[in-house]
Amino acid sequence: MMPADSTTKSAYESFLKAACDRLGYSETIASLLALAAMEIKVEIPIIRDNGELAIFTGYRVQHQNARGPCKGGLRYHPQVDLDEVRGLASLMTMKTALVNIPLGGGKGGITCDPRSLSARELETLTRKFVKRIHREIGPNSDIMAPDVGTNARVMGWIHSEYSAIYGHSPAAVTGKPIALGGSAGRETATGDGIAIVTREYARHRNIRLDGATAAIQGFGNVGINTALAYRKLGIKVIAISDSRGAVYREDGIDIEALAKRKRERGTIADAEGHETISAGELLETKCDFLVPAALGNAVTGDNADRISAGAIIEGANGPLTRQADEILAARGIDVVPDILANAGGVIVSYFEWVQNLQREVWPEERIEKELARILGKAAGEVFSHARDKKLDYRSAAFDIAVARVKEALDATGF
Ligand code: GLU
Repeated sequence: MMPADSTTKSAYESFLKAACDRLGYSETIASLLALAAMEIKVEIPIIRDNGELAIFTGYRVQHQNARGPCKGGLRYHPQVDLDEVRGLASLMTMKTALVNIPLGGGKGGITCDPRSLSARELETLTRKFVKRIHREIGPNSDIMAPDVGTNARVMGWIHSEYSAIYGHSPAAVTGKPIALGGSAGRETATGDGIAIVTREYARHRNIRLDGATAAIQGFGNVGINTALAYRKLGIKVIAISDSRGAVYREDGIDIEALAKRKRERGTIADAEGHETISAGELLETKCDFLVPAALGNAVTGDNADRISAGAIIEGANGPLTRQADEILAARGIDVVPDILANAGGVIVSYFEWVQNLQREVWPEERIEKELARILGKAAGEVFSHARDKKLDYRSAAFDIAVARVKEALDATGF
């Protein structure tokens, strides 16, 4: 694979620097916000099912906690490394600040291929990771959540391991199974949030949603739930991919049928009644909304010229490289940035944390209403700031987020 023209971390640093310049902040502030407050790297040995010893590397990066405890997902993927986790952690600081919830930013990961590990191996790996880092995480310091390659089940193991040391502590991790204090609406929150932000964007741009079309890259938690939420808005999803294949259907994809196929066969590739397309063609689909909802650096300087969507809604974290961003801006294709578009997940994580701390259980309607209120407000702020200052949406979002973090740093009195 060709190296991308930027990494999540280097792209973050240039967005940050540009925002600090616009806001008139010193180089020191820019450097401070480029660095993580704490970085943890641990080796995790486990005995595999075949009796052999295997050693995995785990990371947790706590980027910023001026606005509240660090918050962010835990990723299980072969490409996880310290540099990627750093970039993703800093994006979380900007995300929580942009949507104005009282949390900071963090991210973790274990370099592994979860699909090649048994449930027992994954459980052992997760519990050992918590044993290694438990002193540094918790409800008031750093709260993990699902990300690529992890899910409610993994969060349940984290909860159980952490609680075995500190006593019942559901607020130490979010995205848990409902039976362990998880929140209604958390599973679908990122996709629901993407739909809310898309609706606000369409309102701002006067785009009719009924009959609009979308292509979605990725059919994991974010991709599936975005597809379902888009359908409720009347948006027709015409192309979807996963890591092993991509399909197209002009009349709209039967999302449940595709989800069933994915559950049964592990992939959507070659689904009957659909045209098979390549991963590249998926990204180049002519549609109103392209939602990259898989990994980082999906759209680069190499393919940004061929994007034919009206707008890109960033479902994944960091799906565009710096060059892609520049090319799309020059071509007049709007990009709704990750820190706004996919913030629904961390917002409902925040609701879960609040419910756990207060020993409360909120009904689903309350979650839906509050999610729409918080995201609607953040989206409105980004779109009006962009209009007033003649900025693209990512720059507008960074201005708002960086200013909020700076305000908290100033208020701490350092
Ligand atoms: N992993 C998700 C994200 O990147 C959710 C994080 C959370 O809920 O803390 O936003």
